[in-house]
Amino acid sequence: MTMIERFWSKVKKSPGCWMWDGSPSKRYGYFRTNRTRVAAHRFSWEIHNGEIPPGLCVLHRCDVAKCVRPDHLFLGSQLENIADRDRKGRTARGEKLGHNRGDRNGTHTMPERVARGDRNWAKAHPELMPRGEQVKTAKLTRERVAEILSSSMRQDDIARKFGVSQSLISAVRLRQIWKHVEVHS
Ligand SMILES: [Zn+2]
Repeated sequence: MTMIERFWSKVKKSPGCWMWDGSPSKRYGYFRTNRTRVAAHRFSWEIHNGEIPPGLCVLHRCDVAKCVRPDHLFLGSQLENIADRDRKGRTARGEKLGHNRGDRNGTHTMPERVARGDRNWAKAHPELMPRGEQVKTAKLTRERVAEILSSSMRQDDIARKFGVSQSLISAVRLRQIWKHVEVHS
């Protein structure tokens, strides 16, 4: 079994979220690779999109921490991550008052801040990294990336046009992702 097959063997897919079936005591799912332990949702994002640009977080559209479904995940900044967590934290407190003490542990509430070596996962296994539209769920294509790079449209306008987050547009423009696309201007 390849590492990626092993990853998917631990995921329970449904028509909605695809749940990581493990790490029962943890808020997020964790997957053990050859050399390190990575947050399952971050691993999933990297399988589908390539390396997570430095400083960015992988957030959930669905608010389900253990979901690893690629189209439920998006890139955000650390600030967006914190705002997202705060918003969910308020919701969670209302729903399960007093039962989330464990979540206050920094490692659980801020897994993105913990250096687990998973930032290097993609670097360690470049052969496993798909590039751009080889990935079925990728919302960006080579053509769109070229357009993003050459366009003078504002970040939020172009993000809306392609239905992706501003962070993703920013990462493209900073040449952190889709680095293989060249622009001839
Ligand atoms: Zn989900």
